[in-house]
Amino acid sequence: MKTDQKTAITIARGDGIGPEIMDATLRILEAAGAQLDIEEIEIGEKVYLQGNSAGIQPQAWESLRRTRVFLKAPITTPQGGGFKSLNVTTRKVLGLFANIRPCVSYDPFVKTKHPKMDVVIIRENEEDLYAGIEHQQTDEVVQCLKLISRPGTEKIIRYAFEYAKAYNRKKVTCFSKDNIMKMTDGLFHKIFLEIGQEYPEIEKEHWIVDIGAAKLADTPENFDVIVMPNLYGDILSDVAAQITGSVGLAGSANIGEDFAMFEAIHGSAPRLAGMNQANPSGLLLGAIQMLVHIGQQQVAETIQNAWLKTLEDGIHTADIYTESVSKQKMGTREFADAVIARLGQRPTSLRPVAFTREATGFKIRYTPKPPAKKELVGVDIFLHFRKRDANLLASELNKAVAGKLVLSMITNRGTKVWPEGFPETFCTDHWRCRFKNSNGEPVSYADVIVAMQAVNAHGLEIIKTENLYTFDGVAGYTAAQGQ
Ligand code: NAD
Repeated sequence: MKTDQKTAITIARGDGIGPEIMDATLRILEAAGAQLDIEEIEIGEKVYLQGNSAGIQPQAWESLRRTRVFLKAPITTPQGGGFKSLNVTTRKVLGLFANIRPCVSYDPFVKTKHPKMDVVIIRENEEDLYAGIEHQQTDEVVQCLKLISRPGTEKIIRYAFEYAKAYNRKKVTCFSKDNIMKMTDGLFHKIFLEIGQEYPEIEKEHWIVDIGAAKLADTPENFDVIVMPNLYGDILSDVAAQITGSVGLAGSANIGEDFAMFEAIHGSAPRLAGMNQANPSGLLLGAIQMLVHIGQQQVAETIQNAWLKTLEDGIHTADIYTESVSKQKMGTREFADAVIARLGQRPTSLRPVAFTREATGFKIRYTPKPPAKKELVGVDIFLHFRKRDANLLASELNKAVAGKLVLSMITNRGTKVWPEGFPETFCTDHWRCRFKNSNGEPVSYADVIVAMQAVNAHGLEIIKTENLYTFDGVAGYTAAQGQ
């Protein structure tokens, strides 16, 4: 069914095989009657090598701001330092908080050990360790901040449940590692449980990410939608795509409150560039997600069913060609022609797709919560101290600090080494020294400054501090390992 109204989108042909697979994809979209008003921007290698470290021209953002929908072919990031990842930049600038990657096997037409796999990985896209806040603090220690926010987590978890509802999925699984990261991954898990209550019709399950990942690799058919923080999602969405049998067949969507970007998950395959051999399916499946997003579900359905029929008919590009099931080895252009020739047909052994109206652009917005009662109760002062002796450091600190705040604990890489540390614990030059009010009452920031000044005046090197707060009376910090 054609709609009269055209939707403006921005496209970029990218590098390597990008222009060929974009051409094949756009031809299929046009033949299927997609109503698109296409603007084109330049991104990637050429732009990087012109001295633009972000790989995207400033004026290209204007097009993206206008259309808010971006279909992007893969790009080549030049070797060497100083080039920023265009994907990371785009996700962050456009607030694309959700990465959606359907990982489906097409057995027996594409060889896989997991013939029944049909999993959608929903990955938080903006925060976690990917905030990129890293520092070297001492000779021996560097750190990377893992940031998990309530708005970021609520948005991704709600997205996962809304996605499951709209796509008629039955179960949402959450992966996290809150047995270790009790506060960050703990918040992710807690919000999963909170929001899950609003979706009684959907089955909910949680796994610690290590055993969850093992189960996913072993029996992916037991999973449906899986939601997870950025780092785990980055790794496991690749694992999931790989075990379907071909990374070349996966597309992905990056969705924000106001913008969306669609792409193949593979890179620019420079060695195949210009050879008419690349498989355009990954980008095509990304484009199908885009059509659903902009409300052209019928066209999306027609294309995906024709594409499934093409696979089923054994019309395969070289990357998935196997003597036993393939009938014809096709180039990029010819494969696109074969899909176009099957528009209107449906697969008979693979499951045809059907997209509901609900699958279009459900909006996820965060409503801020009222602030908690926040009280300062102490400070962790981090020191660079080269002598590997916790008792010596404690005695220096006790000599130095004589205010409201008193030393309550020292840890090294999170393990308690004072009081009552184990002499066997290996210590680096990076120490966390916890100061709290001896009577347990709240303190002022002026008290913290007094303690810091005393430590500094004693010749000890402060590398950073973290205030210790309670929120509505609940400690907003962890105890040390070994406590
Ligand atoms: P790649 O995905 O480009 O290639 C990996 C392997 O898969 C190669 O053997 C390649 O020939 C094959 N392959 C990939 N896509 C294919 C397709 N559509 N049809 C047939 N075969 C295909 O990964 P890479 O070689 O690690 O990276 C190449 C370049 O792509 C690098 O510059 C990298 O930075 C970039 N890259 C870009 C993106 C993106 O733009 N989203 C993602 C990943 C990598």
